[in-house]
Amino acid sequence: MELTTTLPRFENDLADTLRLFDAGIRVQHESADEGLTWRDRFTVSMQARSLTRSFEQQGHFSDELEYIRLRKRFCKQGLYETLKQFTGYRPPWGALTGIRPTRLVYEAMAQGLTLDDAAAQVSATFDVSPEKAGLLAQIIRAQAPVYDRTENGVSIYIGIPFCPTRCSYCSFAATDLKTGGKWTQAYVQALVREIAAGAADMRAMGRTVRSVYVGGGTPTALTAAQLEAVLDAALCGFGHCPELTVEAGRPDSIDPDKLRVIRQAGATRISINPQTMNDQTLAAIGRSHSTKAIHEAFALARAQGFDNINADIIAALPGEDLADFTHTLEQIAFLAPESLTIHTLAIKRASALKLGGYVQAAPEAAQAMVEAGCAFALGQGYTPYYLYRQKYMAGNLENVGYCRPGKACIYNVDVMEETTCNLAFGAGAISKWVFDGRRRIERAANLKNIELYIARIDEMIEKKRALYGAGEGLS
Ligand code: SF4
Repeated sequence: MELTTTLPRFENDLADTLRLFDAGIRVQHESADEGLTWRDRFTVSMQARSLTRSFEQQGHFSDELEYIRLRKRFCKQGLYETLKQFTGYRPPWGALTGIRPTRLVYEAMAQGLTLDDAAAQVSATFDVSPEKAGLLAQIIRAQAPVYDRTENGVSIYIGIPFCPTRCSYCSFAATDLKTGGKWTQAYVQALVREIAAGAADMRAMGRTVRSVYVGGGTPTALTAAQLEAVLDAALCGFGHCPELTVEAGRPDSIDPDKLRVIRQAGATRISINPQTMNDQTLAAIGRSHSTKAIHEAFALARAQGFDNINADIIAALPGEDLADFTHTLEQIAFLAPESLTIHTLAIKRASALKLGGYVQAAPEAAQAMVEAGCAFALGQGYTPYYLYRQKYMAGNLENVGYCRPGKACIYNVDVMEETTCNLAFGAGAISKWVFDGRRRIERAANLKNIELYIARIDEMIEKKRALYGAGEGLS
């Protein structure tokens, strides 16, 4: 990918737009703004072909923040139009490169449009396909019962950065137990302290806890006793709240004792994540379990009374085609989880796949799998209820959470729509605080390195206090 621009502040944003198209395209961008007149000229070329287009617009903005937003949008839009004409390719999400496309629909609704009109406006403005615009409208409808309309809610995240082995596509701050097992006990002690301090602050501030999500990593990579200590800290600190999710993600980390601990803590939802139901792929992506173990884990959880289980799967995994993905879907029908999250493979820079030079599946192949997943989910009675996109996804597609009626996960909606403050504990966890009627969001990130997180736990606690204390007068 080669991109030169005379507006360096937008270089990364323009690169995001270029990434929607062929990586081999070169782009030269020149801007010549005069007062409120914005001018962009793009020359895109590949091998012996090239195309040059110019764009001009009068800018209208009230402050620097609005200028940045509109100027960026204008130059990205110009590049998108040029690339679309040059390649003849229309990406399914059009010019959109952001993580949360539903936000644009909510913004248009805040201007007084109906949901359908707002989705149509987003579709027309950003060249989003009618199918994706329809998906956004469907999701917003499904979110309505759990969408946070209060000013006082907080969602809690507790991160356990350990896994039995490391998946080849993983870019999270998680370590395998062979490397990091020696830190689990000290980690749990630090985490319990951090949770207790944060929970005391929330009580003092009169915050209402909407949901607690224990994720990672793989929480069930801990021993049953360690997991119990973490869940006890959450229960003591936050009491019983409407929703407690515990990721029991890797089937090779689940046993009856750990499930019992989770159930006794009052978990309302767990997640058992197959990712694929093909043994060959599981081995190829570094998951140390079989498809048989996935069936056994589901059976164990059902036997213990869990009636709200989520399953994550991934489209466009290495070596998989539509037939493999369809096989996974057929097996999911047999497992019958209450919710199903269909991810599209994203290959981040820190993943083993990226470092090993793996090249993503072709956009058409990824799209066929995602469409098959959507058709399957709808056919099985699931409704899409949250969506997000990531950089470096196959086909620049999306991740969608589907659920059975009444099973939408509050935490997922809160986090994706950024309606609610998020208090996050654990190594690498990022707390987000929502200020000024949801117009401003600030973040505080914990250290990713597990040893440093443990050693500097007081600093993590104070950093979070600075985040929310400043806005809410906590002494
Ligand atoms: S289970 Fe999740 S966090 Fe753990 S290694 Fe795999 S992708 Fe990473």
